[in-house]
Amino acid sequence: MQDKVGYLFFCQHCGIPQRIPEYVLKTYLCSDQVKRYYCSNCSSENSIPEYVKKLKNEL
Ligand SMILES: [Zn+2]
Repeated sequence: MQDKVGYLFFCQHCGIPQRIPEYVLKTYLCSDQVKRYYCSNCSSENSIPEYVKKLKNEL
């Protein structure tokens, strides 16, 4: 598992790639309560891709 690298998202608005640390992924993005994340560049809401939700089962 690439636990030091984190996971990469591309903002659906500005296209800037963003590195998400694994702990953020585990504690935030994989939560069933969380449906969106905010781009650190343009602060727009992004929906969380379905494959990210599935990562929860692998962590
Ligand atoms: Zn953005």
